[in-house]
Amino acid sequence: MNELNYKNKKLHFSKIDIESLAKKHKTPFFLYSEEILSNNYLQFAVGAESAGLIDPLICFAMKSNPNKDLVKILAKLGSGADIVSGGELKRALEAGIPPEKIVFSGVGKTEEEIVYALKLKGHLNSFNVESLEELELINATAKKLKKSARVCFRLNPVVKPKTHKFISTGNKTHKFGLLEQDILQSMGQNKYWSHTRLVGMSVHIGSQLLDLNATKRALVRLCEVALKIQAPLEFLDVGGGLGVDYHPDETHKLPRIDNYMQIIAMTFEKHFYSKSKLRPRVVFEPGRRIVAKAGIFVMKVLRNKISENNTFVIVDGGMNDFMRPSLYGAYHALIPVKEAKAEKECHVVGPICETSDCFGSNRMLPALKTGDLLILKDTGAYGYSMGSNYNLRGRPLELLVEKKQKLKVINKAQDYSDLT
Ligand SMILES: *Cc1c(COP(=O)(O)O)cnc(C)c1O
Repeated sequence: MNELNYKNKKLHFSKIDIESLAKKHKTPFFLYSEEILSNNYLQFAVGAESAGLIDPLICFAMKSNPNKDLVKILAKLGSGADIVSGGELKRALEAGIPPEKIVFSGVGKTEEEIVYALKLKGHLNSFNVESLEELELINATAKKLKKSARVCFRLNPVVKPKTHKFISTGNKTHKFGLLEQDILQSMGQNKYWSHTRLVGMSVHIGSQLLDLNATKRALVRLCEVALKIQAPLEFLDVGGGLGVDYHPDETHKLPRIDNYMQIIAMTFEKHFYSKSKLRPRVVFEPGRRIVAKAGIFVMKVLRNKISENNTFVIVDGGMNDFMRPSLYGAYHALIPVKEAKAEKECHVVGPICETSDCFGSNRMLPALKTGDLLILKDTGAYGYSMGSNYNLRGRPLELLVEKKQKLKVINKAQDYSDLT
């Protein structure tokens, strides 16, 4: 599905003319498409059903994009939420996601956050526990509140996926998840289990995964440990991490949803269901795959700067708005809004006082001049949510193309009065 195309030499996103939009709204801004977001979610959900997975629950990873309107769209389609803070918990509830569809991940849950979650009317699907110290705190907190907490162990499967080292999480040297020996050692100890109940097991080995071999190995490990602990598990949680094709070279490697679901179905059948009477449901925690391609970032050229052989195209968006290129060296396509022949090699840079504030080096683009528009593609995930006020810049506007091409401001731009 190509939702970006030129019509009369003008770039359209989800059938919206970007140039006329930029006449009404101050750049830079994020632009999202309800249609793409819904399609991505439904493709995932239908894929899980078609592969015959048991009662799948898809918990959207809120950290990838916690915008309330976007989460509401997903909630209406049946999505749950994977949260990592009290703020995300509040947002998920406000967007209409019930507690029983929420999993609470993260290595650093505070007592305040645990109390907040335990005091809700319904029970969370689970606290996904990352250490025995955390489990002890959840148990003690539940005891104090005269409650019972549903918990899930996040297993550290000790596998190395092929992805960027900063977004890889499933190895011994990473802070995430519990080793098998620690999980087994906790069983039966009152300080962990007097006010908690083990209802699930999870793995999450990293993000932007394009090769599913490590995923498969992690799922086998998940099944092995889940069988060993002999608890009446209600679910197996496969985490998130499914990648997208940011670069054209990644397109042929991109795992298809049906293949991904098949791998899960076959691995669980062979390594769990065929060896147990239990029929735990399958929980997912996808973020990027659902929302990355549902958003673009629209910027305006401020000026060109020529330094000998280098042409710098200086744009009004910066690394404070969209951080992935500067943080991970991530590639994102840059596309001019006016269709023209790419004839010039240039570096597209932001106004922030950091050398890493660069959206693309040595890119072939048409000659761009002051006032021309340029978009950065696939910025729906880990975009606005990772942004900051660095250099005391206001956070940008967020716009949504709703069904029938209606436009909605879903987050106002900050102006000077907001920067207090
Ligand atoms: C970040 C994260 C996810 C989502 O990862 P994506 O790559 O966006 O799918 C899921 N689960 C956990 C525990 C995470 O930390």
